[in-house]
Amino acid sequence: MKPLSHQPSFTTALPQDAEEKNFIRQVQGAAYSLAQPLKFPNSAIIHVSDLAYELGFKEEDINDSTFEAVFTGQELVKGSTPYAMGYAGHQFGHWAGQLGDGRAINLFESIINGQRWAFQLKGAGPTPYSRRGDGLAVLRSSIREHLCSEAMHHLGIPTTRSLSLALSGEQVLRDVMYDGNAAYEPGAIVCRVAPSFIRFGHFEWFAAQGDHELLKKLTDYTISTFYPDITGSGKEAYLEFFQEVTDRTLKMIMHWQRVGFVHGVMNTDNMSILGLTIDYGPFGFLDPYDHSWTPNTTDNQHKRYRYGAQPEIGLWNLLQLANALFPLIEDSKALQGILNSYKTRYQQQYLSGMAEKLGWQKANASDIELIQRLENLLHEHETDMTLFYRELSKVEIDHSPEDAFKVISMSFYELAQMTKKIKNQWLSWLEDYGKRTKHDNDKSSLTSVAFAKARTQQMNATNPKYILRNYIAQMVIDAAEQGDYSVLREVYDMLKRPYEEQPQYDQWYAKRPDWAKDKVGCSRLSCSS
Ligand code: AMP
Ligand code: MG
Repeated sequence: MKPLSHQPSFTTALPQDAEEKNFIRQVQGAAYSLAQPLKFPNSAIIHVSDLAYELGFKEEDINDSTFEAVFTGQELVKGSTPYAMGYAGHQFGHWAGQLGDGRAINLFESIINGQRWAFQLKGAGPTPYSRRGDGLAVLRSSIREHLCSEAMHHLGIPTTRSLSLALSGEQVLRDVMYDGNAAYEPGAIVCRVAPSFIRFGHFEWFAAQGDHELLKKLTDYTISTFYPDITGSGKEAYLEFFQEVTDRTLKMIMHWQRVGFVHGVMNTDNMSILGLTIDYGPFGFLDPYDHSWTPNTTDNQHKRYRYGAQPEIGLWNLLQLANALFPLIEDSKALQGILNSYKTRYQQQYLSGMAEKLGWQKANASDIELIQRLENLLHEHETDMTLFYRELSKVEIDHSPEDAFKVISMSFYELAQMTKKIKNQWLSWLEDYGKRTKHDNDKSSLTSVAFAKARTQQMNATNPKYILRNYIAQMVIDAAEQGDYSVLREVYDMLKRPYEEQPQYDQWYAKRPDWAKDKVGCSRLSCSS
């Protein structure tokens, strides 16, 4: 394998903790602390994603023992000094103080095809920021992170990536439901890859320490390395930066809403400064459409991070970032103006996003009523979000409401139990939807056949057919825990083309099965990972 080159930027731009030993502590006046990955003599890679090819690795490189040694932490890239980053954050709305990479160890950075990439192992051992944790990760949560990072990428959603998934070869003790039933599970290591893993919480950490010099250094580094289009300096540049982070954060969350992704733990330490989806823990995709749903049992009481609240929480998190950046800007009016722009852009993007999902050219204020009726109806009787939008693309303009209902009926859970009243509401909605779509057709210069084709294409390019439903992830996990990785490979392969028809995978294009409704891992997940 061609030797990997280490081209550091984070560690050269920012100060290192003077203490070099790896023990749990509070750190001040530094951005990172040294931490070596543990030696796992029996570690073994069980899956490598296509990211490897994107990064220029060839088949023979992946099969080379060096690849496995580097991405399980057994061998270091020449010149690299592994480290853990410090950060703080607001967890579930409360200030949590110092957090940091408790089980992520940054290996090296490299510029590949003009793009900077940082490589990080998750689950390779403790760091000074491990607090009460062991620095390890288990197979089930690592499979979920590995598969979902790549699935999100293929859905066209900004995300950190996952290069490889390995067994550590050791057992890890976890109490999945925090109910006193701890058990040993296979340990695992994921190699995460992103241009940078800097989070909102990094800025909050320095701001809380009152270290404005370090706050400025971090902000300048982030702008010059990752926001090269911002060329000014001082307050203006920082405001431009905050606007850009705001826009990216909103864009990312609108993508989540589009596909029904619920992050589960939108704490400010889990918000990437690059607008990437990061930290795949108790996440889930909606099965029945439900604004109040969260897969995270730890959040069951208040459901702070439920699907319907994600855009609002994004704004709350940006407010925390604005507070952290304030010492560099000292202009609350300007910062507030940017936060207000989030709200107006949200409204616009919500409407344009819904228009795309519904197969319209664009949505106008006059469409709000029809969209709102749909949102309500989807809650009235359990309806599978993914199946609904995908099947809706098959509803044709000249379908009667009854025929249209038949087309979408596979998306309803317990159809036999649907009341007459709700059925009639659906018929009336479908009739109005047909009229609205016909209106676009009438205005279009395309023939009816070409219009119908373009509409279906648009809808199928925005409404995925194949998603990583929690029960699918759980089936992958159940097989992998028995040493069978064939389901992992199959699901991974399916998720590479979420918008395309893949008849060989149609068994996965189905409503959540009954057995998964209340099963741990399928509808109920905890932060234990
Ligand atoms: P999360 O909610 O997974 O984003 O984690 C919040 C914080 O807890 C981060 O600082 C993590 O690094 C840390 N953490 C989570 N699990 C562990 C673990 N097993 N060992 C050490 N730190 C952990
Ligand atoms: Mg985290």
